[in-house]
Amino acid sequence: MNKYIASVLADVKAKNADQPEFLQAVEEVLTTLAPVIEANPAYQANAILERIVEPERTIIFRVPWIDDKGIVRVNRGYRVQFNSAIGPYKGGLRFDPSVNLSVLKFLGFEQVFKNSLTTLPMGGGKGGSDFNPKVSPHTPGKRCSDREVMRFCQSFMTELFRHIGADTDVPAGDMNVGGREIGYLFGQYRKIANEFTGVLTGKGLSFGGSLVRPEATGYGDVYFASNMLAMRGDTLEGKRCVVSGSGNVATYAAEKLMQLGAKVLTLSDRSGAIYAKDGITPKMLKDVMRLKTVTRGELADFAKKTKAVKFFKGANSWQLADKVDCAFPCARQNELNGKDAAYLLKHGCVLVGEGANMPSTPDAIAAFAKAKIMFSPGKASNAGGVATSGLEMSQNSERLSWTAEEVDTKLKGIMKAIHDNAWNAAEKYGHKGDYVMGANIAGFTKVADAMLAQGI
Ligand code: NAP
Repeated sequence: MNKYIASVLADVKAKNADQPEFLQAVEEVLTTLAPVIEANPAYQANAILERIVEPERTIIFRVPWIDDKGIVRVNRGYRVQFNSAIGPYKGGLRFDPSVNLSVLKFLGFEQVFKNSLTTLPMGGGKGGSDFNPKVSPHTPGKRCSDREVMRFCQSFMTELFRHIGADTDVPAGDMNVGGREIGYLFGQYRKIANEFTGVLTGKGLSFGGSLVRPEATGYGDVYFASNMLAMRGDTLEGKRCVVSGSGNVATYAAEKLMQLGAKVLTLSDRSGAIYAKDGITPKMLKDVMRLKTVTRGELADFAKKTKAVKFFKGANSWQLADKVDCAFPCARQNELNGKDAAYLLKHGCVLVGEGANMPSTPDAIAAFAKAKIMFSPGKASNAGGVATSGLEMSQNSERLSWTAEEVDTKLKGIMKAIHDNAWNAAEKYGHKGDYVMGANIAGFTKVADAMLAQGI
């Protein structure tokens, strides 16, 4: 390994030994940067790697709130402002009991390169809380009520508002933070800051949101896959696809796959996975979307009422179909491991398009690389969401709203540009077709050059 990279990695490991997800993300990026580091000695001379792995600022705060029984609850809130060399910090908020500093630093670090790849002027950040809206703190088997979620969001924003702003840091949604939560967060920001600005994205259409933002991450993932297939003269038409998750990214990826003539065989959630051997239909998908965003239930319940699908309790999506062309992991980090990768490859998989952040484990990525299949890392193929958030920021600044066609056309153009940038960077450094290396190098170079230009 390049000596400079090895010494920075050793230092990051020593300083952050208790942060496995962050270390995984840093190692994945740094180990692909040798060609660009060797070609540009100024990066080492200016300690770019040492600086790029350290967040500019990390904010940790108390979030007290009152549940429906009048009991005071306390959660921990975070905002990791990772890098603002090319624009205001930008990245989602995640509410989940698994949230900790390691997870948010991994997500913030990834976000820096992802946002750079979008071609838009956005730095990287990430935030959230260990608050779990899916489990009531007082009634077993129930979720938090809408009012409890509202009070939590209001308390969270009461501290966060002083650290963000339309030109400083613009959070968005992520796991368990959708339209409902963004609405409550924005409402509280507007009240205490006494201004109506584009300080959050993913807003409702009636208060500054962008058409196609909810669809953008899933659609973008599929557009990226179409671009990869186009390089081999192929399309998604007729492809048998396995998708994981059943949240925002998964359901819109599934919708776009169906629109482009592919067959979606699976979806999953925390309760298990559903498998439809003849493909999930658009009507079933609409029912799943309703289940997840309105009635807020589990796929286990959905499967009981839907004869055409088989339910596999506690399973993920990877080892259910006996013939697979493409896989789209769209749920969470480290959800597709080496064994899953071996199964997919054995059953015909030629393309993996990551919709989630870091869903494939390092051994799975190594297996895909060895098999030389098309593999797009999340930081490239799920960048459509943050890119459309960037378009929402532009519309807010202009005080205009673009049509769905305008936004979708721009999204398609951005996904093609990300694909081509990653492809060209990999080719330039002698690794043609390696989207992992190409995305890392293309994303890194823009940020590193901006940091060089701006001094230490
Ligand atoms: P979401 O709407 O909350 O959906 C997450 C899905 O993953 C749900 O189906 C959830 O199941 C499932 N899941 C979560 N933890 C799980 C676990 N431990 N075991 C099994 N299933 C689990 O979130 P999302 O916005 O779609 O985000 C999904 C991924 O995409 C995340 O990695 C996120 O960082 C990434 N991403 C999102 C965006 C965006 O615009 N939303 C943009 C870029 C990247 P339940 O329904 O049972 O909870």
